[in-house]
Amino acid sequence: METFLVAILLMFAAQEKEPPKQKVEYGKRVYVGGAVEMEVLPYCTCTECCGDDPNSKAGKTATGKDAKKYVDGVIADPRLLPYGMRLFIPNVGERVVDDTGSRAKAAGDKGQYRIAFRVKTHDEVLAIRKRIGGDSTKMTVILIEEVIEKK
Ligand SMILES: [Zn+2]
Repeated sequence: METFLVAILLMFAAQEKEPPKQKVEYGKRVYVGGAVEMEVLPYCTCTECCGDDPNSKAGKTATGKDAKKYVDGVIADPRLLPYGMRLFIPNVGERVVDDTGSRAKAAGDKGQYRIAFRVKTHDEVLAIRKRIGGDSTKMTVILIEEVIEKK
């Protein structure tokens, strides 16, 4: 009985958390979906970015993708942003959740969204950090529900 009540309360909580919908134009496309404020940062597969994580050393994401080959991926807490979910990140573009990490999960424990998008080289990481003025930045990310091609 109690578990049942908790389940109902959680359902209500989840519904209230439903993010407001937004439309964002980027190039020839319009992305439509829930808008969520997140801490966003770039990373590559080097040891400075990924440390000694055995998965990263093998160059594999949590979903088994070759991290060096597929640079369209994002590290997230899959409890908040499930694997396979497509995200639109301003100034970055369309990405897909395909990996997770301890820092993303630590933020998720506090109900905060922290994502890291993959780039090819550490030089790119450094260039982006310079542009955003730090290791990470807060921005509004779209949880893509629909993509409209502009004419
Ligand atoms: Zn790196």
